[in-house]
Amino acid sequence: MTIDDTTMFDINNILRENIKNLTPYSSARDEFKGEASVYLDANENAFGSPLDEQYNRYPDPLQYKVKMRLSEIKGVPARNIFVGNGSDEAIDVLFRSFCNPGVDNVILVPPTYGMYEVSANINDINTKKVLLTDEFQLNLEGIADAIDKNTKLIFICSPNNPTGNSINREDVETLLNNFQGIVVVDEAYINFSRQKSFIQELTEYSNLVVLQTLSKAWGLAGLRVGMAYASEEIIEVMNKVKPPYNVNESSQQLALKALSNIEQVNGWIKETLAQRDKLVLALKDLDFVQDIYPSDANFILVKTVDPKGIYNFLVQAGIIVRDRSKVELCEGCLRITIGTPAENEKLIETIRNFR
Ligand SMILES: *Cc1c(COP(=O)(O)O)cnc(C)c1O
Repeated sequence: MTIDDTTMFDINNILRENIKNLTPYSSARDEFKGEASVYLDANENAFGSPLDEQYNRYPDPLQYKVKMRLSEIKGVPARNIFVGNGSDEAIDVLFRSFCNPGVDNVILVPPTYGMYEVSANINDINTKKVLLTDEFQLNLEGIADAIDKNTKLIFICSPNNPTGNSINREDVETLLNNFQGIVVVDEAYINFSRQKSFIQELTEYSNLVVLQTLSKAWGLAGLRVGMAYASEEIIEVMNKVKPPYNVNESSQQLALKALSNIEQVNGWIKETLAQRDKLVLALKDLDFVQDIYPSDANFILVKTVDPKGIYNFLVQAGIIVRDRSKVELCEGCLRITIGTPAENEKLIETIRNFR
C-alpha cells in the first residue's frame, strides 16, 4: 500500500449525498429537553403501564445516562459514543450512512463475522472479499489491490470470530493510515483479549470506528445493547440515521445498572480464560483433534478429522457447538464457546467417548 499524504480522510468525501442533506426526525423529546411536570407532547398514555414498572414514556433517544457511564469506564467522551440495538444495528447504520446501494462496496476479510455480509446484502452493497492468510492475518497487498474509488468501509474483527485470534495491530494501523474510507474494528471479544483496544486511538485516526457490545463478556445479549466509538463527526451522522428510539427504556435502565457491576464481569472473564486453558489442554491430546488455534476470545476454533460426526455426537448428548467446517480456511473446524466449569466438564467427558 502506498502512502498518499495529499489526501486526508474527509467524511464529506464518503458520506452519501442523501444523508448529507437529510433533515433527521425531530421527536417530542428533541424539541423540548428540559424538566416539566406535565408532558402532553408525545401522545403517550399519561396513566401509566399495565405493569409493576412504568414504561409509558418514550426512552431517551440519545441514551445520555448509559453514555455517561460508558464514558467513565472507557475514558472516551460521550460525544464519541453511539449506542445501538446491538452492535449489529451500528453495522447497519454504517452501511446506510456511507454506502450508496448498487454503487459502493466494502472490503471483508473472511473467515469473519457473518453479519457484515448479510448487512451489506440487505443494503445492496457489493462486498469484496480478501481472504485472511493461513495464520488468519490480513493480506494487506490483497486489500490494497481490492480498494477502488467506491470502497467505503473495511471491516476488521479483532479478536476475530470464528478464528479467535487478534489481528496484528500494525496491520490495522497501516489500513487506518492509508485508506481514505472508514476502518471498522469490531471488538466484540476485546474483554477476553491480551491486546489493547483501539478505543485509545480515536484521537489519532478520524477514519476509525470501534465496535463493542454488552452481548458477550457483559452477559447482556438479550438486552441488545452495542456501541460504536468514533469521531464526533461520524457519531453525529450515525445518530441522524438511526431510528429515533433505537434502544428501549428497560434495556437502557438495565444496561446502566449492569455497568456498575464491573467486578462481577471481570471475575467471569478471569474464570473464562482459566476454563479456556483447561479445555485446550483436555482437547489437545484427543486423536481426532488436529489443531486448536490460539484464542483471544471466549471460544476456541478446533480442527478435527470429523466435524460433522463430532457435532452430531455432541448433539445426542444435548451439547451444541458451532460447525464451521463449511467456512473457507476453517475446513474440519468446530467453534466451541467456553461455558461454566460444569458445562466444560460435561463437554470434555462426552467428547472423550467419541469413537
Ligand atoms: C456476537 C458478535 C457481535 C454481536 O453484537 P450484538 O451487539 O449482540 O449485536 C458483533 N460482532 C461480532 C464479531 C460478534 O461475534
